[in-house]
Amino acid sequence: MYDRSTRWPDAPGAYPDPAVVQADPRFAELVLPFATVERIAGGCRWTEGPVWIGDQRCLVWSDIPNNRMMKWDEQSGHVSVWRAPSNNANGGTRDVTGRLITCEHLTRRVTRTEYDGSITVLADGFEGRRLNSPNDVTRAPDDSLWFTDPTYGILGDYEGRRAASETPPAVYRIDPGTGALERVVVGPVQPNGLCFSPDGGTFYLVDTGVRPGLILAYPYRDGALGEGRTFAVMEGGSSDGIACDAVGNVWAAAQGDDGYRGVHVFAPDGTDIGRVLLPEQCSNVEFGGPLRNRLFMTASQSVYSLYVNVTGA
Ligand code: MG
Repeated sequence: MYDRSTRWPDAPGAYPDPAVVQADPRFAELVLPFATVERIAGGCRWTEGPVWIGDQRCLVWSDIPNNRMMKWDEQSGHVSVWRAPSNNANGGTRDVTGRLITCEHLTRRVTRTEYDGSITVLADGFEGRRLNSPNDVTRAPDDSLWFTDPTYGILGDYEGRRAASETPPAVYRIDPGTGALERVVVGPVQPNGLCFSPDGGTFYLVDTGVRPGLILAYPYRDGALGEGRTFAVMEGGSSDGIACDAVGNVWAAAQGDDGYRGVHVFAPDGTDIGRVLLPEQCSNVEFGGPLRNRLFMTASQSVYSLYVNVTGA
């Protein structure tokens, strides 16, 4: 078969991109026929924690094993080190005033980067015991910060330091007023990615400690979580980081075989409506760009992006 990649090794991506795969007609409204997946950064070992910094028009992410955080400048395309060492930083978000919030494996804590660059510790233990290795963090409708604490960062010396777990994997809430730490979910084997629906009524949580991986959904009302249920089963692999778009679809990083890995998109009713396939295992997703209509995907050694026809929640 004629292979255009051999004839034109630097050939631009095709429109429409065959890596953007529809499984349900609803997906067609979310993607653009004249957009293609772009690889915007490489040279990392395990990328995670993409955060769009709107006022600087840049994306910041973690390169966990290399103990650094990276930055991609939207206008120049330049990639540089944002912070090193990063204490094997993993997931991140911004608080209601725009300060960067970071999960750190090595130091087993969640921190806030102040405007002057100094670091404030928001959480490093619960009831006198050290956290495991905070993995991912999101902002709740009441501006509290919710983070997951599985054991991945203490299982070995590659993405943190090997250590005994002192407390069960859980989801925690940091109060926006008092800073008090509250444990809000226990039960999932390895709670990982998390996000809230755009209407604030549903809390989504990924469990990567079971196979196939699960995406759970909890009703959230008046600051309280209801009973969780299975929202989606990642048959054939697992998810990791997730994000909602403005109309309530869940964009889930997917890890599995070729043709599976990338991003899977679930409608609010849980239907798998389409995929963005990537050549590497995907760890997390973030909507960014000035109009928040550009999907950024951290995937193994690289970062990818795709303009879409919907904005982030
Ligand atoms: Mg994660």
